[in-house]
Amino acid sequence: MDIINLLSEKISNQIAAGEVIQRPASVVKELLENAVDAGATSIKVHVKDAGRTSILIQDDGSGMSSKDASICFTRHATSKLKDVEDLFKLKTKGFRGEALASIASIAHVTLKTRTNEQTDTGTLIEMNGGTPTRNEECICDKGTSIEVKNIFFNVPARRTFLKSDTAEFSHIRNEFERVVLAHTEIGFALTHNGNEIHNVNPGNLRKRITDIFGIKSNEKLVPIEENTDIVSIHGFVGKPESAKKSRGEQYFFVNQRFFKHSYFHHAVSKAFEQLISQKAHPSYFIYFEIDTEKIDVNIHPTKTEINFEEGKFIYSILLSSIKQALGKYNIAPSIDFELETSFDVPLSQKTGTPIEPEIKVNPNYNPFSKFGSNKNSNTSSNKALNNQGFGNKSDSKEWENFYAIRAENKESQTKLIEPEENYSKNKYLLKDRYLLSNVKSGILIIDTYRAQQRMLYDEMMQQFVTQPLAAQKLMFPLELALDQNEIDSWMDSNSLLLQLGFTFKIENKVFQLESLPACINEKDCKSCIDGITKTLSSSHKPDKGELAHELISALVYSAANVTRLHSEQEIESFINLLFSCDDHSFCPFGKPIMQTLTIEELTTKF
Ligand code: ADP
Ligand code: MG
Repeated sequence: MDIINLLSEKISNQIAAGEVIQRPASVVKELLENAVDAGATSIKVHVKDAGRTSILIQDDGSGMSSKDASICFTRHATSKLKDVEDLFKLKTKGFRGEALASIASIAHVTLKTRTNEQTDTGTLIEMNGGTPTRNEECICDKGTSIEVKNIFFNVPARRTFLKSDTAEFSHIRNEFERVVLAHTEIGFALTHNGNEIHNVNPGNLRKRITDIFGIKSNEKLVPIEENTDIVSIHGFVGKPESAKKSRGEQYFFVNQRFFKHSYFHHAVSKAFEQLISQKAHPSYFIYFEIDTEKIDVNIHPTKTEINFEEGKFIYSILLSSIKQALGKYNIAPSIDFELETSFDVPLSQKTGTPIEPEIKVNPNYNPFSKFGSNKNSNTSSNKALNNQGFGNKSDSKEWENFYAIRAENKESQTKLIEPEENYSKNKYLLKDRYLLSNVKSGILIIDTYRAQQRMLYDEMMQQFVTQPLAAQKLMFPLELALDQNEIDSWMDSNSLLLQLGFTFKIENKVFQLESLPACINEKDCKSCIDGITKTLSSSHKPDKGELAHELISALVYSAANVTRLHSEQEIESFINLLFSCDDHSFCPFGKPIMQTLTIEELTTKF
């Protein structure tokens, strides 16, 4: 007995619809993409009851001739692909000719469309669960409008499967925003039950992002740009401090198509490593332009993953472009810093022969050593500060006479031309910790304690990757009360710990520390071991790199001390060393090392 049947077009469309149209948001996505492909400059979306009752999309694109309109609901009817070669050159969103057929098979659809050539009337088509019920001439605007009503009316299982209106509308909103962010050259509007949700005009990307996410997002955007033969990348990443606890605004686009890519996402996260806490998520809007032949276009219509031929290169280009952009942004105070000399030079001196600044570096200076000797603090730099009535025992008389002293003291004004004088005069160490410096935009404040942590971390990390850290052997092994799990976790990471300078033995289930890194004081040893044990036995299993970061951070935490900076030379070397660190803006724990108190902020305090 023969048992094989050919499925009717209606049934096969319904089956296909199950894949292409999962919820009202899928309809919005497909119809938006069709409108974009039709070259629209304005697209309006009106949704009722999260798309359950109706989804209406109006565009001013090319429209369809009456013949095209009659066949557009047929499966595999497409104007975007003619032969197999075209598959590799596709610039359009769609090409499978499946969406309209799928949508029509599970809803009541009304299409009105008119091309530019049709001067008077266009075409109206109605489809009822895949069956055409009307096909006639109609009066309509140029372009296309499609209304999709009663989605899944003939697939009750699907309809009951839909979530709450809030959840379904949020899917619609997401799909809408993805298309809107990909096409800044098009104006878009979205309403829900008559309420306007978005209404955006064509404009640049920054404008588009702020239109969608609010004007406040503007100041958080750091531009990125990289043009190579393989790929061009542009867009924005959010400043580290705007990173959120929940994954939110993370967008990748390739050739104006939204996509997800865990590998590229990793590159972004890596660029933000140490700038934000591990639990925070940076926002990004990153646009790739790439030869269409270098990406796999044959993706499933509902899938957002895309394969890249040169993914590895793109990963490194992406990573470096973000790092560079963040560097530029973080480095802002240091640029400011360099400008300050010219800013302070009196006008009359500017015409004279400039004196080349001489930077003195003391080769024997070690910022990590504890500055035991209490040097006389009445150095030339402090004297210079006094000259300006700045700080020092807050002598109110000096404050009152501040301007007078400045005006009178011609000699000291002349001295401003000496770059070193100028340099030191503008530094002031508060409470042995905060280094204040006069910069163009206000006062730069460096937390020397965190700065020291950063320097120590960089030094240890650099040394650690090439050779073991210097260790000191304890005179007597130190017994520590670790439980069996903690002991096991130390044993598991034995080689890494050895590299850090720790050696230990276990005797009668008792943990005995034999040596520890040379940079740690024996008295700080206990807290350091506690920190390391916590890292080693955390439930999240860190990889080797992460572990090294955690362990070195724990070491740094115990080893960093309040920095004692006395002479101007010490301060200078300290700053030079800090600014030579790759990441001088944040300590290894992600906290800022420097802050600028701007003139505007100062003014608001008075
Ligand atoms: P695809 O987009 O993959 O080609 P669809 O089923 O989404 O398939 O659409 C079928 C065809 O209908 C498209 O190729 C296009 O020619 C036409 N079409 C659909 N929507 C529009 C529109 N808004 N404006 C003009 N033509 C459209
Ligand atoms: Mg389509």
